Amino acid sequence: MSLPNTHSKSLIQWHLAENCRDLPWKSEKDPYKIWLSEILLQQTKAEAVVPYYNKILKHFPTIQLLAAAKEQKIFQLWQGLGYYSRCRNLILTAKWISEENSGLFPNTYEGLLALKGIGPYTASAVASFAFNLPYAVVDGNVYRIIARLLASAIPIDSAEGKKYFQEKATALMDKKNPAIYNQAIMDLGATICKPKNPLCLQCPWHKYCKAFSTKTVEKFPIKSKKLIIKKRHFHYLVFDDGKHLYIRKRIGNDIWKDLHEFALIETDDEKIGISFDRNPSASVFQQQLTHQKITAYFYVMLQKVLRKTITEYGLEKVAYENLENYAMPKVILDFLHQNKYL
Ligand code: SF4
Repeated sequence: MSLPNTHSKSLIQWHLAENCRDLPWKSEKDPYKIWLSEILLQQTKAEAVVPYYNKILKHFPTIQLLAAAKEQKIFQLWQGLGYYSRCRNLILTAKWISEENSGLFPNTYEGLLALKGIGPYTASAVASFAFNLPYAVVDGNVYRIIARLLASAIPIDSAEGKKYFQEKATALMDKKNPAIYNQAIMDLGATICKPKNPLCLQCPWHKYCKAFSTKTVEKFPIKSKKLIIKKRHFHYLVFDDGKHLYIRKRIGNDIWKDLHEFALIETDDEKIGISFDRNPSASVFQQQLTHQKITAYFYVMLQKVLRKTITEYGLEKVAYENLENYAMPKVILDFLHQNKYL
């Protein structure tokens, strides 16, 4: 690597002098709070995480309180953030630490990596921020910075790329100051070395950056796979008897596990494929996930529900005023809000 030994100093100086990203978990040393922020930050931008972080900590200031909480309450607080498998892993890890590990977080990289929902990135983040251990974080920001610094043509999403960039990040890091260095490089990626229109002239590393010197910044990082978005059509039968709606919990290995929805018929297109006695018109809402685009059609049926239908779909009768106690996907909440059920 062609950076001089002083590179980490210039990065840390930039971080202390110029970087004003003020986030509530910055400089935090409590492993519970750091872990919580890192789980929330997986797949989500820092600005969107802040209200969730504050809300969860207000309800559960310690891991013991989180572990003892009703799961439905935690899912409700998580509502709107997506990627609910993170929330399930958060609950499992909180219970394990509270009940099996005397409420103590493991203080080694390997111990952290063994926890549910923690991969190499999160283990490095918690190890360095909470315990000042010399593990380099390699998130999307760091991949991008290093790929540009080296003008590397190795795809960042390949097995070779993962190994290569992890090694480069480890070589680059300031092992005497891992916490502040890791924070600084992630902030550099978020505020200066941005995916589009990076602010290279303000970058503390622009003198050593190969992509900048060769005017090829926009070419990096290189990815091998194109993201394929699957289109799904969810037809929801909304039974409304005048006082209640009928919902069910999603189970199985699919999106939105443990959240609540209406009776569902999934098809390959906008046609529901069944006929109704009276044809209700559907209202349509959409939700974009990373790999899927959901189009949801809601057919409101103002009628008493047959016992057979309740059994077939595994429905639960819920009074309007109690709907707010159930965690639901955004697309369902949008429907409920627009139709004044919530
Ligand atoms: S000079 Fe530009 S491309 Fe290179 S690391 Fe800095 S911000 Fe990124």
